Amino acid sequence: MTNDGSHAKMGQISPVRPTDPIEFHPDFLLKELSVEKSPVRASVDFDRPGIQHGNLYVPYSYNLGGWANMMLPVTVLNGGKGPTALVMGGNHGDEYPGPVAILNLMRQLKLEEVLGRLILIPALSPPAVKASTRLSPLDGKNMNRSFPGNPQGTVTEMIAHYLTTVLFPMADIVVDNHTGGRSVDFYPCAHMHLVADLNQRKKMVGGTLAWNTDFAFLYADIAGTGLLPVEAERQGKIVITTEMGGGECIPARVHRMCQSGLRNVLVHLGVLQGEFQTRADLGLAPTRWVQSLDWQDYRFAPESGLYEALVDLGSDVAADQPVGQLHFIECPQRPPVKVVAPTAGVLLATRGPSMVAQGDCVACIAHDVDPKILA
Ligand SMILES: [Zn+2]
Repeated sequence: MTNDGSHAKMGQISPVRPTDPIEFHPDFLLKELSVEKSPVRASVDFDRPGIQHGNLYVPYSYNLGGWANMMLPVTVLNGGKGPTALVMGGNHGDEYPGPVAILNLMRQLKLEEVLGRLILIPALSPPAVKASTRLSPLDGKNMNRSFPGNPQGTVTEMIAHYLTTVLFPMADIVVDNHTGGRSVDFYPCAHMHLVADLNQRKKMVGGTLAWNTDFAFLYADIAGTGLLPVEAERQGKIVITTEMGGGECIPARVHRMCQSGLRNVLVHLGVLQGEFQTRADLGLAPTRWVQSLDWQDYRFAPESGLYEALVDLGSDVAADQPVGQLHFIECPQRPPVKVVAPTAGVLLATRGPSMVAQGDCVACIAHDVDPKILA
């Protein structure tokens, strides 16, 4: 038998015919063989009304799983014709307030509360979340340096590419929940890039304020390119991101802030029904906008050592004021090396683990923002 199911006569070359004509349909070839097409499959139909819980399937191999798929839980709540929000946590695996807030919201919501469509991904990198690591243990990649992604790359790069080409185009609003992870402790805040498009910027400012955090933070990309929010911003989305603290012990107040803030953001942007609350409604002072747009605002350990923070998060600091100092356990008599604020500002982030290696970011000094740039 030949592979077309017929007997070939001796000396003749049998034509190879398809057993399934669909395989040779031109559209099929175009879609399935394109190097740009994502190999990621979804078990949910993003257009179907109602609530669906499913998974994204990302193909990968390991020694005991040649045809394995990494399953990435996704929930779709499709309630009507309002805007679509894509809400994610676990971009970095050791940042947990976002995943917790998404899991709680997912179970609390009733479909009738959803005016538009909500796509919830509590753990963008499940292996990293389970391992409590910033980088994926599958490929060593940093999800937030992997955009726009690669459909033929590693698992992390395939997920990034799927977001870039499938999920971001569906979304009006992209929410990416972070903390400083184990390495950095932030004063819990919402943050954003100062995008060039003023209409997009205005909507992002509104969404950032809706977190009702004490500080809102304009940040710079000091550690590489390929960030998730940058790709979503490039596609014109309303991108809403956070740094909800850091470290391994998450205080209950930070969980509460993340959960109430997330719901308030989605109400503000017309995705959920509910009562929108401002800080004034809560009896709080207005959010303080700060920025760290200069590379000098990020302070790096000049040497390896034992870091002692000298200033509490959220405190104002003067120019040249020490914010921390490095001790040297192998050289106890050596005077500590100070890490100073280059200019006056507020300490918005500090080092997590006390032992630091040369070049670790140990402090972030932020400065008050001219309100005109937010208009
Ligand atoms: Zn992060």
